[in-house]
Amino acid sequence: MRPKTRHEFTIAIICALSIEAEPVEELFDEVYDRRGAIYSKQRGDPNIYVTGKIGTHDVVLSYMPGIGRAAAASVAASLRMSYTGIQLGLVVGICGATPTLKGQQIFLGDVIMSDSVTQYDFGRQYPGGFNERPTPSHGELKETTIRNLQSLKQVTNEWQRPSSDDILFAPQFVHKHYQKEPSATCICFSRDRPDDICSVATETTCSRLGCDQSRVIRRRGPDTPMGDISFFIGKIASADTVMKSGVDRDKLAESDGVIGFEMEGAGVWDNMPCIVIKGVCDYADSHKSKDWQRYAAATGASAAKAFLYMWNPVPRDVSSFSSIRKQIDKGDPTCRIKTDQIGLLPQSGLAERYSNEDRSNEVWKTCVNSKDVQDVQTWLSNKQDWLLIFDNYRPPVDLSLDEGGPVLERFFSREKRGHILITTQLPLTAPWHFIRLGKVDREDEATEILLSQGPHHQDISSDPVLKDLVTRMDGHPLALASAGIYLFKNKKKSCSDYLRLYSKAWLQLQRDTPQLPSYRGDLHSCWFNIAEYLFKSRELSMILLNWTCLDSQDIWFELIDGPNTLPILNGSNRMTIFNQAMSLLCDYGLVDISSQRKQGVGSQGYNLQRSFHAWLESYFVSLNDPLQNSLEVALCNVINCSRDLVRSDEYYEEILRLLPHANRCYDLVSSEKIHLWRADATQNTLYKDIRSREELGILFEHAGYKGS
Ligand SMILES: [Zn+2]
Ligand SMILES: [Zn+2]
Repeated sequence: MRPKTRHEFTIAIICALSIEAEPVEELFDEVYDRRGAIYSKQRGDPNIYVTGKIGTHDVVLSYMPGIGRAAAASVAASLRMSYTGIQLGLVVGICGATPTLKGQQIFLGDVIMSDSVTQYDFGRQYPGGFNERPTPSHGELKETTIRNLQSLKQVTNEWQRPSSDDILFAPQFVHKHYQKEPSATCICFSRDRPDDICSVATETTCSRLGCDQSRVIRRRGPDTPMGDISFFIGKIASADTVMKSGVDRDKLAESDGVIGFEMEGAGVWDNMPCIVIKGVCDYADSHKSKDWQRYAAATGASAAKAFLYMWNPVPRDVSSFSSIRKQIDKGDPTCRIKTDQIGLLPQSGLAERYSNEDRSNEVWKTCVNSKDVQDVQTWLSNKQDWLLIFDNYRPPVDLSLDEGGPVLERFFSREKRGHILITTQLPLTAPWHFIRLGKVDREDEATEILLSQGPHHQDISSDPVLKDLVTRMDGHPLALASAGIYLFKNKKKSCSDYLRLYSKAWLQLQRDTPQLPSYRGDLHSCWFNIAEYLFKSRELSMILLNWTCLDSQDIWFELIDGPNTLPILNGSNRMTIFNQAMSLLCDYGLVDISSQRKQGVGSQGYNLQRSFHAWLESYFVSLNDPLQNSLEVALCNVINCSRDLVRSDEYYEEILRLLPHANRCYDLVSSEKIHLWRADATQNTLYKDIRSREELGILFEHAGYKGS
């Protein structure tokens, strides 16, 4: 059965070149959609998609407009906005390779799969994931790959093994002119830089250029059977420049254990858990030729399909730990370490619930820096079958304090003898199995969290405002529990009292809320700790500041960064920046995609976690009133959007989407929390951007009318 919406797709394949994408598309078992006619895409998403089925998986294939990390990152970010259910990305295509791995020879057309990616030009490491997944046996993988390759061969002979020899030159021997060329552009003889090669030499094949046959160290003839493909799993180096030096290649192979070289993996890895699967088209040295590219693209695509036939993802969106348990309960854990308070975050309670059963072998250790984690690692190094829990993990806010990248990724990426369970509020780039715990969707469950904080008197469960209160807490367990315990301790207060205080004096209300037994921290520190990461980005700060002046639900690009106000986002494609910011906020679990979008008004809508929105307001108000400017911008954007509506036929229907935001501005103005009309100068700033006072009046009339 085909997916009903694009959000049901779970696998993405990303290709940089069209010769890489063509064999992948050819190998789809079924193609659903080629031009986005069925599944369409998010507005502002420039990607081109082909959707279909491979094995049991619904797969979306995306072509990249260019090569390199930045292009890959931007494609992957847009892809995740349009296809929100993606669990695994495959970067499929061609790559350069080292000629040998631990004594085994790697030939052109062989297949390389990443167990980790290193971005060697920035020194960044993306740790392994492949070996922690059920690794299909090489034999099975090879058999299926060859079957796929043969079916490709039946389509066209373009993907055949080329008739030329597979030649490996000595690493020091450079592909260049060794006899003086008449061309003025030839730099092959520059004594200062012996590795410089002129463009003419680069474009010329080894045989035409006359590369010295005595420097050939390995050769394989065209009579090699088509099925002679080997698989290698190892570290792939990803960089923005092509590796074309045999000497540098061998150095990286030696120092970092790199076996493949390509340009996209790191960019995709920044955005989703991914595996790089590539056919080898050259030896990452200067003797490159295009001859092998199509064949290597075909073996890469065939291997990717074979991999998908054997790939079984873990279910996502489970609200219990049962599926993690299945992953972990292989053998009897003899040791459990609980390292909490990393970064002094309030305990989530989630991991505790998981590890509840057997505590006889539990060891506690507080880890606040990488040294502590290293100690744990050393201590574990001679033990078997342990379970390590990082509860509410957060990496250092300032990574420079902890050189070398996130602690967990560095220390525990290749553990084979134990299991690690990490709970975190932050997005982790490591491609471990991840299970996203969303907010509590069901109203009865959310109500239960609130009521279970104490033996409430009958009044609360029958309070007519209870439903509203639960809605405002937006399925956030700590927000619900805080409301519950406050009402339990303050028996004279009703649900509407709580909501009134929640709007008027959020921070004071949190201070007056008693400590919750099952959580170590309070709501304020919970949000503050996340915001610390978010405010590192100027774009995110600006978006959140403006969002605070709008309703938390269903905002869209033009409302935040309207065309007639000062741009808050820099760069040529502000909508892409906006979408990337939303993608990141989705990863933090702070934003989800609004389903309320009405045709014709603005672009894709996003909902901000209501409890976080309330915190943002109290936080910004407590600062030196930075909301004033944002409120002006928000008002102008609301009015600009409404002006677009005035021109349309469905004004009254469409104004419904704007009204909550107009209401929100109106509330902020009338609450006098923010002094908008503090001075004439401010008024002028505001009115120069709107057509007339009447227009504002009409809008507020609507807002006031709706609000009352
Ligand atoms: Zn030259
Ligand atoms: Zn050559």
